[in-house]
Amino acid sequence: MKRMRIALVAAAAASALALAGCAGNGGGGEAEEPTAEPAPTFEAGTTMAELAEAGSITVGTKFDQPLFGLVGPSGVPEGFDVEIAKIIASELGIEEDGIEWVETVSANREPFIQNGQVDIVVATYTINDKRKEVVDFAGPYYMAGQSILVLADNDDIESEDDLVGQPVCSVTGSTPAAKLAEIGAEPVLTDTYTNCLEPLRSGQVVAVSTDNVILAGLAAQNEGEFKVVGEPFTEEPYGIGLAKDDTEFRDWINDVLEEAYEDGRYEEAWDKTAGTVLPFVEPPAPDRY
Ligand code: GLU
Repeated sequence: MKRMRIALVAAAAASALALAGCAGNGGGGEAEEPTAEPAPTFEAGTTMAELAEAGSITVGTKFDQPLFGLVGPSGVPEGFDVEIAKIIASELGIEEDGIEWVETVSANREPFIQNGQVDIVVATYTINDKRKEVVDFAGPYYMAGQSILVLADNDDIESEDDLVGQPVCSVTGSTPAAKLAEIGAEPVLTDTYTNCLEPLRSGQVVAVSTDNVILAGLAAQNEGEFKVVGEPFTEEPYGIGLAKDDTEFRDWINDVLEEAYEDGRYEEAWDKTAGTVLPFVEPPAPDRY
């Protein structure tokens, strides 16, 4: 990752020179309005200083979850988590093309952070004590809750009580998978939630269960085929995963989130992504713990 950062810095320097050349050749004689924000400065030795200096950040996110992190025709992921990551990057002075997106599925988020394969994970990632043994979290920046997706014509399943003893699809390493086992359903596990849709269509499972907002995205993407039923039956506070004990980085991200809540960037990020399907709710205050 380090070598790539150096390469990217060199590329950024080269393009800055090329831009300077263009401006010089413009020949209009008028001074250009300065558009660039002054580069942020950070205390030497902090993760913020390292990332800002490199001009790049590696972000783990989902690649197949509509509304939060979905790679479409552009080849670049789109969604609310992606926008949250862009806000963090921009506060480090990192341009969008300085963000390297890495697919993190539910089961590899902690290892990717622990191995340094990603700098942060923004991926419908629930903060909980078990995960906090090996990684840290900024946030929460959103509160989701586990819910249930069934075929549109299924009227038998109305709540989690109807899942007891039934095969239900979820994802390895996720909090909903653990909850399904706890309530006495029969979890059928795969690696991503989109891989649960075929088993649901074929009747191999009676439902898919994960966070309400993920299910709402899958239902919207496959209009008329599925429906979300019942009320959310867990609390899933979404956090930004980062290396354990990097307290300065975590506190700094929490400050960035608070600023984004206040100046409207959070709501704007929501409106253009998840907000196309889901109502806006006030974000939970980021906890420092
Ligand atoms: N928020 C839950 C979790 O972090 C479910 C969603 C997911 O797997 O990404 O496990």
